[in-house]
Amino acid sequence: TVVTRFAPSPTGYLHIGGARTALFNWLYAKRHAGRFLIRVEDTDRERSTDEAVKAIFDGLSWLELFADEEPVFQFSRADRHREVVDQLLETGHAYRDFTSAEDTGRLRDEAKAEKRTFESPWRDREPTVDDLALPHVVRFRRPKATTVTVADEVQGSVSWSTEDLDDLVLLRSDGAPTYNLAVVVDDHDMGVTHVIRGDDHLNNAARQSLIYDALGWTRPTFAHIPLIHGPDGAKLSKRHGAQAVHEYAEMGYLPEAMRNYLARLGWAHGDDELFSDAQAVEWFDLAGIGKAPARLDFDKLAHVNAHWLRLADDERLSKLTLDAHLQRGHSLAEADEARLQRAMPFVKDRAKTVLDLAEQTAFVLKARPLAIDEKGQPLLSGDTLERLGRLRDRLALFQSWDVFALEAELKAFAESEGVGFGKIGPPMRAALTAGSTSPDIARTLSALGRDESLGRLDDALQ
Ligand code: GLU
Repeated sequence: TVVTRFAPSPTGYLHIGGARTALFNWLYAKRHAGRFLIRVEDTDRERSTDEAVKAIFDGLSWLELFADEEPVFQFSRADRHREVVDQLLETGHAYRDFTSAEDTGRLRDEAKAEKRTFESPWRDREPTVDDLALPHVVRFRRPKATTVTVADEVQGSVSWSTEDLDDLVLLRSDGAPTYNLAVVVDDHDMGVTHVIRGDDHLNNAARQSLIYDALGWTRPTFAHIPLIHGPDGAKLSKRHGAQAVHEYAEMGYLPEAMRNYLARLGWAHGDDELFSDAQAVEWFDLAGIGKAPARLDFDKLAHVNAHWLRLADDERLSKLTLDAHLQRGHSLAEADEARLQRAMPFVKDRAKTVLDLAEQTAFVLKARPLAIDEKGQPLLSGDTLERLGRLRDRLALFQSWDVFALEAELKAFAESEGVGFGKIGPPMRAALTAGSTSPDIARTLSALGRDESLGRLDDALQ
C-alpha cells in the first residue's frame, strides 16, 4: 500500500508551501487508498518549539488534513537513529571523524579554493583506542567515483557524481543525528513508499539514496515539486503577502477553497479549476505536477473562494461571520446570530471572503437607535418622513415577513402613494441601516426580522 508523509520542521507557522506539500501527500495517499502520515522533524532542539508544533497542527486541522496515524516526533527516535549509525559503522559505510571543528573549517576552505570536494583525513584512517575517547562526528562513507541517480517522478532522472558530494555527517559530536540520516531511518521505519516534497530537497534525495543503498533498504519513490512563487515570478516571500495558513483563515478563506486552490498550484487536471475533494482524490497523480514553479494568484484564489462560499451552508457561514465580527470587537446578542443567518443567502453571492460577508452584514448588528448621519437626515424629514410613517403602519399590519411578499407589499405601497420606488428606497435604507451596505429593501427587512425592522422605523419616526 501507498504510504506518504508530511514532515514539517516545527520552527514557525504552517507555510502555504508546506500546506501544499501536505495536501499533495494527502491526495496521493487517498487516491491509492493508502495512508498519510505526519512526522514532526524536531531534531533541531534549538529551533523547534512547542508553539510551532501547535501552529502546524492547527493549520493542518483547519485545512482538514488529518493523518491516518498518530504523529511521529523525530527527536524521540534518536536512539534508533544512533542504532542505524552503528550498523553503518560496522559495515564500513560510516567512519568516525576526529577532526576538530576548526580544522574541518580550514580543510573545507582549502578544498574550496582548490575546487575539489572536502575529504576528512579520517576517511581512510583507523582510530586508536585513545582516539575513540575523543569527541568526534560520524560521517557517511560515500562510494567514490560513481554516479547516483534519482528517478524522480517530477524532475525525471537526475544524476550526481559522488565525487561532487562530500561525506555527510550522520551524527554530530554531541551524538545528535542529522537531518539526512533521520529522514532515511524514519521514512524506512514508517514504511513510507512515496516522498513528495519541495524541490529544495532534491540534492538531499541523492544523499539519502546513497544511505538507503548502503543499508540495503529499498528507496522510496521521490517526487520533488517546484516551490511556489509570488505573482511576479520571484520566490515567495513576505512582500508578496500572507505566507502562513492561519493568515488565510483570518482573511476569510474557507478551508475547502484553500484545498481546491492549493491543489491547482503546481498540479493540473486539464482545465479544471473548481473541484471537490472527492474529484481531486479521483484525479490526483504525480504526472500532473508541473516542472515549472507555480505562481500564487490572489485573484484566482478569491474566485475559488467565492465559488465555495456560494456552496457553503448558511448556518456555518453565519458562525464564521459571527467570529469575524467578534474579532472586530463587536459584542453580539443572541438575536444577532439569527439575523446573520437570515442575511446570508442575500449577501453570499456577492462575497469573495468571510470578511466580505462580515462587511455586508454589519447592518444587522447595529444597535438601536441607529446613528443617522448627515446624508441620511434629509431623507428622514418632511413629506418623506410622513410617507415612511404610513409605510411603517402598513408593514405593522403585514403578517408575512417573506422576501417575495415584502417585495410585493413595497410595490403595492409605492403604487398606492403614486410615487416611484426611488422615493421609498433611500429613506427606508437610511432608517433601517443608517447608510451601511445592505441588500435591497425587501431583503434588508427580511434579514432584520419584523420586530427589529419596525423598531428601527419607529426610531427614525420619533
Ligand atoms: N523537515 C523538512 C522540511 O521541513 C522536510 C523533510 C522531508 O520532507 O524529507 O523542509
